[in-house]
Amino acid sequence: MPSIYDTQIENVISKLEATGQQVNSELIRRAYNFAADAHKNVYRRSGKPYIEHPVEVSLILSELKVDDITVAAALLHDVVEDTDVSGLEIKEKFGDTIYEIVNGVTKINEIYYDTFEEKQSENYRKLIISMIKDLRVIIIKFADRIHNMRTIKFMKPEKQKKIARETLDIYAPLAYRLGMYKIKNELEDRSFEILDPENYTLISTKIRDSHESMEAYISRITPIILNELEKKNIKASVSGRIKHLYSIYTKLTGRKKSFEEILDIIALRIVIPDDGDCYNILSIVHQLFMPIQGMFNDYIAAPKENGYQSLHTKVVFENKVIEIQIRTNKMHEVAEFGLAAHWRYKGSNNEDIHAIDEYITKLRNILQESFEATDPKEILEELKINLISGEIFVFTPKKDLITLPVGSTPVDFAYKIHENIGNRCIAAKRGGKIIPLSTQLENGDIIEIITSPKSSPSYNWLRFAKSSRARTSIKHFLRREEEYKTVKLGREIFTNEIAKYNLKIEKSIVQHVLKAFGFQAPEDFYKAVGNGEIRPNQFIRKISSFKKESLITRLVQKIIVKSPKNFVPEEHDKSVNIEYATCCHPLPGDSIVGHKTDDGKLIIHISNCSVVGSIDPSKLVNTNWDVDQNEDFEVSFKIAGEDRPNLLYEMIKVINSLEINLSSIEIKVENSIATGSFTGRVKNLNHFIKLRKKLFGIRGVLSIERFIQ
Ligand code: MN
Repeated sequence: MPSIYDTQIENVISKLEATGQQVNSELIRRAYNFAADAHKNVYRRSGKPYIEHPVEVSLILSELKVDDITVAAALLHDVVEDTDVSGLEIKEKFGDTIYEIVNGVTKINEIYYDTFEEKQSENYRKLIISMIKDLRVIIIKFADRIHNMRTIKFMKPEKQKKIARETLDIYAPLAYRLGMYKIKNELEDRSFEILDPENYTLISTKIRDSHESMEAYISRITPIILNELEKKNIKASVSGRIKHLYSIYTKLTGRKKSFEEILDIIALRIVIPDDGDCYNILSIVHQLFMPIQGMFNDYIAAPKENGYQSLHTKVVFENKVIEIQIRTNKMHEVAEFGLAAHWRYKGSNNEDIHAIDEYITKLRNILQESFEATDPKEILEELKINLISGEIFVFTPKKDLITLPVGSTPVDFAYKIHENIGNRCIAAKRGGKIIPLSTQLENGDIIEIITSPKSSPSYNWLRFAKSSRARTSIKHFLRREEEYKTVKLGREIFTNEIAKYNLKIEKSIVQHVLKAFGFQAPEDFYKAVGNGEIRPNQFIRKISSFKKESLITRLVQKIIVKSPKNFVPEEHDKSVNIEYATCCHPLPGDSIVGHKTDDGKLIIHISNCSVVGSIDPSKLVNTNWDVDQNEDFEVSFKIAGEDRPNLLYEMIKVINSLEINLSSIEIKVENSIATGSFTGRVKNLNHFIKLRKKLFGIRGVLSIERFIQ
């Protein structure tokens, strides 16, 4: 004996056949039997066998005039998710198309709405559309949702609210976008009832109360129109209806009007054959009743984006305003069923095909994707849509939805959450498994970012980061890091260079160079030094002009060791033949040491001459100066300065002024720095120090070094 569900399936099959299409009834029965077996011994909260749900879903779909594939897939839609049956088994038994559709429905069911916020609804809608490769997936999902809403009273209250919210914010708007008003209206009203029972009851009670009078009103106006059309030999059906509750509610809240003030609760619909002229009907209506100015909408010349076409006008009858909609049969089908209405026209005449093509073009525009679909027989087959091409949708571990450009990686994800997360990310987990930062993310991925305080962005990231937010942040970070390194290098150069003059970084020096080079912050100055804009000789020159005296003293202190005041060799033996070492050319005033040679000479070195270190200590004697005031001594020194005309001339002028005789001069110019090596004779160390002071007074002189080995 056939069960109630067996009978319903036969009912579904005959409804499909009634649309005039070829129906593979064997496929539908096979899918039904397979699902019934898979869901065997499972019951819904209502206490009914689970198979009731897929059967009811297929019944809802048969009202929408879909094809046999859609119905078969609908019967199987919960099998993979809720039973032991694998996707592979569906593929083997029912083929690729049905497998893909069932898979698509399962995927949508896996979307997390747990922390779903109203402001995120648009993203969720996009996510769903982006996941759909075949429009039949969303049509099944709508039917699934309608049945779940019809049986929602078996759920726990908080679950009811959650599902209703999701339905109102995500599925109803999607149905609207696809032009499926009938589905949209039912989803809205059922969600409204759950989410706002007070207002739902209020409005439905008021409608019930005034229902009789509204019915009477409709029954008075309808014959007036029908008679007039009959006189003109026009076939038409006229029907009145009360608008659905949720749209009345939004009108009440949106316009802040009372129920009594809402004039257009009733809508009258005139549907004429496809070859009829809607504008002609409009003029007849306007002759019968007074139209309200500015209340006419021509959705035939300018259809809504979802494909909706109709003429809307508002007229006055019995001192009440009523909305009248005028459309053809075909427009009516599209308005009721949206995309699914195409079934109706499968295989009809060329004009129909043209109309379908036009509608498809519009849909394509809405859904922002192009596809090839010229043969109406295969419209849904060909309607493999890959919508919303620019974005993907992924989740945080807390199930927050994150929108990213297609091709995005964990790095983009991390920066989308927060710049600090991006700057510190080191790896990522997808579904709990570690993935490289360069991995391209996919729709629906759950991504967890692993950070490390020691991690930072690298140039490598710019090779795969996709979002402009991530790229900007990475570049910004790298530039900052580069700057930091340059500043650090500049500070090092500066410290090392001034250390040569026994100077340390101190406030007065830093302030002086900042002022001299026109910088506000020390970092800016160090940066200029670090990247070579300011060379060491430039800042040394500025410092020397500022700290001239002390700089010279410091140089002298560094090069020359202070000497005792008495110039008497301790073991002065007049018979000893004294010579001055040619390696270090000691000057009276230098601390000296004597080297007794085997041939009886005493060679005088500067104490810290490097040659002294290699002499047998037993042959060294302490020696002090005891020299004639008229004697002079050889000294060699090197002057470095900025190359400029007259530099050498000014140096020689200074040298002459101190009565120093030069025996050799050698000048080299390299990188606009002039270096002069001089050898001459001076009286003593003080004489040389005086010379050095004077030489430093010459503009452009950077350093003076005495040769001491
Ligand atoms: Mn389901």
